[in-house]
Amino acid sequence: TKFSDLKLDPKVLKAIAEAGYEAPTPIQAGAIPPALEGRDVLGIAQTGTGKTASFTLPTITRLGRGRARARMPRSLVLCPTRELAAQVAENFDIYAKYTRLTKALLIGGVSFAEQDRLIDRGVDVLIATPGRLLDHFERGKLLLTGVEIMVVDEADRMLDMGFIPDIERIFQLTPFTRQTLFFSATMAPEIERITDTFLHLPERIEV
Ligand code: AMP
Repeated sequence: TKFSDLKLDPKVLKAIAEAGYEAPTPIQAGAIPPALEGRDVLGIAQTGTGKTASFTLPTITRLGRGRARARMPRSLVLCPTRELAAQVAENFDIYAKYTRLTKALLIGGVSFAEQDRLIDRGVDVLIATPGRLLDHFERGKLLLTGVEIMVVDEADRMLDMGFIPDIERIFQLTPFTRQTLFFSATMAPEIERITDTFLHLPERIEV
């Protein structure tokens, strides 16, 4: 498979060519086509396989031109740690550089005021750790009813860190009609239960 065979936004293709990516990795070749069709994806892949691009590139393509409303993000990327969330945000900036899509990073250790300001302005992509996201929600600063695409990254680490109840709560706050892209390095029974409950006929890709 070549990147140009995948039906990605030409602006995304330009950005990844500039980043020096020559061909999709196996998780990208497997996950990007069903994700672009709007299907749910269950990706079983470790860090270092290129999984970040496998959810970020189709998300950018499907969001198209940015038109987020105040306090209603159009997509959500949940990460277990601040560091991972910051890495996803850096990748998003690279891949979305020729688009008009906006993002905000919601992680602990940063003042609420600054994050509130970004959310109020409206963001297409919200990249967050589960606890911080729910803090904003409880404060009444955020609505998740406009979420079109929800990504869960490194679900196995979410489980280790005790975030599964938060993840379930967040799933329940988003529309039933959302698209879900769900990634885990392993499939523990707890994780299988979540994917059985919240993913709709997912395409399962294991690398
Ligand atoms: P990840 O598994 O998402 O953490 O990605 C691991 C590293 O591979 C990151 O530094 C990416 O920039 C890089 N990468 C992802 N996809 C590709 C690709 N198709 N070609 C070359 N490098 C890539």
